[in-house]
Amino acid sequence: LTSATASRSAPAAAAAAAAAAGARACAVLTVDLDAVVDNWRRLRARAAPSHTAAVVKADAYGLGAARVAPALAAAGCTTFFVASLDEGLALRRVVPAASAIFSLGGLPDGTQADMVAGAIVPVLNQPGEIARWRAAARSHGKALAAAIHIDTGMNRLGLTAPELAALAADARGLEGLDIRLWVSHFACAEDRAAAMNAAQIDCFRRALAILPPAPASLANSSGIFLGAAAVFDMVRPGCGLYGINPTPDAVNPMRCAVRLDARVLQVRDVDSPQSVGYGASHRVVGRAKIATVAVGYADGYPRALSGRGQVVVAGVAVPVVGRVSMDLLTVDVTGLPDGAVAPDDWVQVLGPERTADAVAAEAGTIGYEILTSLGRRYHRVYVGAGEERAS
Ligand SMILES: *Cc1c(COP(=O)(O)O)cnc(C)c1O
Repeated sequence: LTSATASRSAPAAAAAAAAAAGARACAVLTVDLDAVVDNWRRLRARAAPSHTAAVVKADAYGLGAARVAPALAAAGCTTFFVASLDEGLALRRVVPAASAIFSLGGLPDGTQADMVAGAIVPVLNQPGEIARWRAAARSHGKALAAAIHIDTGMNRLGLTAPELAALAADARGLEGLDIRLWVSHFACAEDRAAAMNAAQIDCFRRALAILPPAPASLANSSGIFLGAAAVFDMVRPGCGLYGINPTPDAVNPMRCAVRLDARVLQVRDVDSPQSVGYGASHRVVGRAKIATVAVGYADGYPRALSGRGQVVVAGVAVPVVGRVSMDLLTVDVTGLPDGAVAPDDWVQVLGPERTADAVAAEAGTIGYEILTSLGRRYHRVYVGAGEERAS
């Protein structure tokens, strides 16, 4: 057990943030850029000599691409993946000009000129997009950089087997395109035992054998742990950078990069037959102590965690009781020593003792969804690598 005094002081980063915000923040999201950079280096070491990119789509999985990407660039990352043109253009403003930015969402009609102007490389997912980019190359009078996605079993994006065969047979199919990367994506990489992993590696190899030579990329974070055959020329980690465990069957090799501390607003004594919160869903049995915490579903804390989640108070995991409401959740702190928790104390909603993976498991989802749902109204603090670069 952490001492009651320890719980009274916010964690160092959160304390600094609270001070900066005039000590009025209700919840502080701390992103550790050193941890993100360290995770990128760990994955790079693991994937070497393959080139290690960084996937920073969805605002770097909710952590803030404008801070995460420059920190990674400063550490030597030169290749970034986003989901769309708009994400790419936003990223273009914050990374060094020489950085490569690939947009996974293809080439929707009308985006060609902005892709060219922003030097965003589209990952072309279907023959229509390849034709569209060829036409753009003709009208710009220059070869245009492109990646092409080959479906190896996801059936989500990328060329189908017949489309691939047709492209390979068409001598002019890639005219005007400067192919930077052949891309495919694992369906089950986090399950090392899945037979589909080897099948996809095989399928990708066979595709590459009939295509013009260019670097190839298959592995996401989990794929990096599938062995040398999975890494090809470039790997595309996302979740592992942000501390999600890419190897769910083993100890997490990644560092925790996010913590969310929320303020206790009230502590109250209750007794049966009272209830707590909306719907009176939590019936108090005997004397109990309830702490009300300033985080709710509007902040991305899943309402599905009503009566099932946990937060860490004074070093102890305590259960969420009653419904999670828009701005608040209630936890049962009956088991803590008297005085261990009081208004203005901070509780850990996410962090080393309450990982996104653990919260996700309680909510019946994955850590990715917990991170990408992180709310906009948290007071955000960035510590580590990028901090010196901050204005
Ligand atoms: C999101 C994404 C990644 C990153 O996957 P992680 O599992 O987060 O490492 C890589 N490649 C593609 C095509 C993606 O959509």
